[in-house]
Amino acid sequence: MDFKTRCARGCRDTGPIGRPLSPPVVMSATFGFETLDEVEAWYDRPRGYMYARYGNPTVRATERALADLEGGADAALFGSGMAAISTTLLTLAGSGHTVAAQRDVYGGTAHLLARVLPELGIETRWFDTDELNKLRADRLAGCRLLYVETPTNPTLRIVDLGHVARAAAEAGIPVVVDSTFATPALQRPLDLRCDIVVHSCTKYLGGHSDLTGGVVVGAADVVGRIATRRRSLGGIMDPWTAFLLQRGLRTLAVRIEAQSRGAAAVAEALRSHPQVRRVLYPGLSGSPDHALATRQMQGYGGMVAFEVEGGLEQARRVHDAVTLFARAGSLGGVESLVSVPVTMSHRYMSEEERRQAGVTPGLIRLSIGLESPEDLIEDLRQALG
Ligand code: PLP
Repeated sequence: MDFKTRCARGCRDTGPIGRPLSPPVVMSATFGFETLDEVEAWYDRPRGYMYARYGNPTVRATERALADLEGGADAALFGSGMAAISTTLLTLAGSGHTVAAQRDVYGGTAHLLARVLPELGIETRWFDTDELNKLRADRLAGCRLLYVETPTNPTLRIVDLGHVARAAAEAGIPVVVDSTFATPALQRPLDLRCDIVVHSCTKYLGGHSDLTGGVVVGAADVVGRIATRRRSLGGIMDPWTAFLLQRGLRTLAVRIEAQSRGAAAVAEALRSHPQVRRVLYPGLSGSPDHALATRQMQGYGGMVAFEVEGGLEQARRVHDAVTLFARAGSLGGVESLVSVPVTMSHRYMSEEERRQAGVTPGLIRLSIGLESPEDLIEDLRQALG
């Protein structure tokens, strides 16, 4: 079935008449047994549910829907994107290991890799996006995994997933891809032979800025290992959030289509504005990754970044002068948002780290929602003026 069809069908069971079309929200912390034999049998061969930190029917239904949309055998849901990412890394790497990672990943992931994991004895070997797109297997020698993000936050660079997957396979290590900005509507890393996909469900997958969540999708064995570690680290999603998430997934395809169209119109309008120094959007023909994005993705997504003339002071004026865009972090919801990365997501990076990530003081990030693109463009024109 087409992606749109699978989104719209959601978690529906194809069962007898009378089955609910939406998954029931099972708000139970624990699940009962008839006999001690049944309890022991569960530990030997878990069937059904035991305790909500291990698994829950509403969470499971949403995991199945996400595995299907991403083209993976299984999925595990978490209480946040960072819980999904940290649990994945702490399953695949341990003390004394090195992780290979892209330098310009989301600030929270960069902090985890640069500051938190070293305290646990896990080091990182960093790669620029341009280096990754020419990566050779020998550069990964001694690493346990390769971690990449595409498109990147907030510079919207694209990693050549087919290329890094080949290099990592030659080096004998798995590739983990943060595909939050693309969603399975625009990019399916598992089809390109990457091993694990992670998302912040807080963004496009939920789509309404009303939940916090994360997911890991991949082969059944590796997702099973990550889900087992999730029991110890305790980061599973709660049933009510899983219900909201599956509700958001039903409109994912049409939301992304409309948001991508809006973002393309906004990027095009900003490109010709005299106050704008550069526009970062992979859909623009002049963008450094345009050809790669066109080959790898089914659209360019709803995120746009642009640099204003006049640095941080002018970025501050534009940020404060818009009237339709909400001034807020996060992204991927139905309402458009504006933020200035140096003051927010990249605040705690050194100037050198920001320079390496391509995050300049005058850079403004937009998450395009479902408003009319003409209204958004008019709002940006008045703010830039
Ligand atoms: N990955 C990307 C690309 C993000 O933008 C974010 C959050 O902004 C995360 C991961 C972390 O997700 P969460 O905030 O749900 O923990």
